[in-house]
Amino acid sequence: MTEVAGVETRSFDTEVHQLLKLMINALYSNREIFLRELLSNASDASDKLRFEALTDERLKGLDQDLAIDIAFDAEAGVLSIRDRGIGMNRDEVIENLGTIARSGTRRFLESLSGDQRKDARLIGQFGVGFYSAFIVAEEVTVATRRANESPDSGVRWVSDGQGEYRIETVERPEQGTEITLKIRPEHRDLLTAWQLKRIIHHYSNHLAFPIRLHKPAAGQEEASEATDAEVELVNDSKALWTRSRAEVGEDEYRDFYSSLTGDPDAPLSWAHHHVEGSQRFSLLLFVPSSAPFDMLINRDDREGVKLYIERVFIMDAAEQVVPRYLRFMRGVIDSADLPLNISREMLQDSPLLKKIRATVVKRSLDLIEKLAEQGGEPWRKFLEAFGSVLKEGVIEDFEQRERIAGLLRFSSTSNAGDDAVGLDDYIERMKEDQEHIWYLTADSLQVARNSPHLEVFEKHGIEVLLLTDRIDEWLVGHLNEYKGKTLKSVARGKLDLGEKTEPDAAALALAGRIKKALGEKVGNVQPGGRLTESPACVVADDNELSPLMARMMRQAGQEVPELKPNLEINPDHALLGLMARSDDEARFAELASLILDQALLAEGAELADPATYVRRVNALLVEALDDSGSGEAAQAAS
Ligand code: ADP
Repeated sequence: MTEVAGVETRSFDTEVHQLLKLMINALYSNREIFLRELLSNASDASDKLRFEALTDERLKGLDQDLAIDIAFDAEAGVLSIRDRGIGMNRDEVIENLGTIARSGTRRFLESLSGDQRKDARLIGQFGVGFYSAFIVAEEVTVATRRANESPDSGVRWVSDGQGEYRIETVERPEQGTEITLKIRPEHRDLLTAWQLKRIIHHYSNHLAFPIRLHKPAAGQEEASEATDAEVELVNDSKALWTRSRAEVGEDEYRDFYSSLTGDPDAPLSWAHHHVEGSQRFSLLLFVPSSAPFDMLINRDDREGVKLYIERVFIMDAAEQVVPRYLRFMRGVIDSADLPLNISREMLQDSPLLKKIRATVVKRSLDLIEKLAEQGGEPWRKFLEAFGSVLKEGVIEDFEQRERIAGLLRFSSTSNAGDDAVGLDDYIERMKEDQEHIWYLTADSLQVARNSPHLEVFEKHGIEVLLLTDRIDEWLVGHLNEYKGKTLKSVARGKLDLGEKTEPDAAALALAGRIKKALGEKVGNVQPGGRLTESPACVVADDNELSPLMARMMRQAGQEVPELKPNLEINPDHALLGLMARSDDEARFAELASLILDQALLAEGAELADPATYVRRVNALLVEALDDSGSGEAAQAAS
């Protein structure tokens, strides 16, 4: 390589600097991942070349026999990884290896957890893999040339990862990129054929390009120029998804998953199909065992289902073939019928892709149903990782609504443990004359389990589903019915559980008095049959926004009109009995405010004026303790 022009020393972005320091410390004991990252970059670059060669005349013929070559020299402490892929020009090198323009970096830094296994997984997700080279290297040299540019536009980039890098334009006859690592002395144990092969097998066995290891000739400690290095093909580059299912072992599927996703944990399950007929494609889908860190926030960032056409990687097509609520699925689709030069725009409305999408949905739900049937630990893991996301499907996918709803699991009053009750379980246990599937939404399971709304259901032995996921309010807004049974909130409208429905005159009068005392602070106040132990609870009208939903919308910054809570009172409660008999109107009003605030607190709502509530309770306590043993106050506050 002779130097042509433009030597320049530049500083890394401060963020890169920070990243490098942190990465080296955080991932020290997972140092081997650097090779996976560099190999997968080499493979991506080869994929890109193949793809661009479909339309770029200048690349004709350059996309043949693409391979990745690894060479090492233990004595000198050097390891190099060379691809013949698309390469980079000077601007691209500066952009890709000098800045971290992509928003991912800061989030990566913030999400480093100290758990090395988890953090190692993050690297791939954030697109900062290249820098992992500095975990093991004290100096990294990148020599590269964009495949469709001339040999004099090669670029050489060198850095010790300390804050600066040097970049120069060089002559480079070969297309693609060669990355040379000067390995730190303490990591030179990696520089044996055995170690390198082990790491490649572990992480990168299924890359779609041959990985060739150039070993120093046998008996030759130093790979001098005179000796012919022995070359060994290390990986199995035959695309696994093209093989027939009977030919592929379980371990191979697991390895493939791990090299596809970088996920160190095994998938929960997978499905592999070759669809024949008018449209032919292969489909290999995996259900991971844990969720990426940002799955719930990042609803649109779907990566992980790769589209190939006749084994040429076209793009990450998750957005086109996977609906949002299945965005955790991973896999590969390989079509024999899509035209190779298809554009993203054309893909959007391709009927074949619609068919593929429908198949992905069907096969994914099959997989999830099977997990549900088998139950146990894998199903528990699935629910924990993806249960909430799957709920989005009920809202989004009208066609599959019932099927998806059948897969959801909730907490329930007849189940003390985790979320495990499905709608089918519920229906099976319904009382003979029970018409509705009853549910209660709340901020947390604890609030739900202690809710006064459950009292009457407990009395009648009717099961209530406890919905405590943030998305559950939306879910029930869309799922009015399941298998002919309506879903109904225990906290809404009139309950008809065969209770005596006509309240007596005294109860109505008490309700009227409370309404008068509370004035504008409440909507209506009515006696009802919901409660057996509590004096009062908040009830929503059938069509009104629920208090929980209103609260969530406010938290999300939306304007929500002030809702006046409706109060249902329990005239049989001792406190209300005492109130009914009292003719001290000021004291009555104090107590009415107190039961309203208590009903709101029991819902998990925040009081508009908590300090006044506390003052009221304390005043009562003082009174009660002062002349203990007698008087209304003593009983009321007990
Ligand atoms: P990611 O690969 O996840 O985007 P990296 O930090 O590993 O993040 O790489 C940054 C970018 O540098 C890549 O997106 C790619 O554009 C470029 N790059 C890295 N390695 C190569 C290579 N071997 N050939 C061509 N481009 C590369």
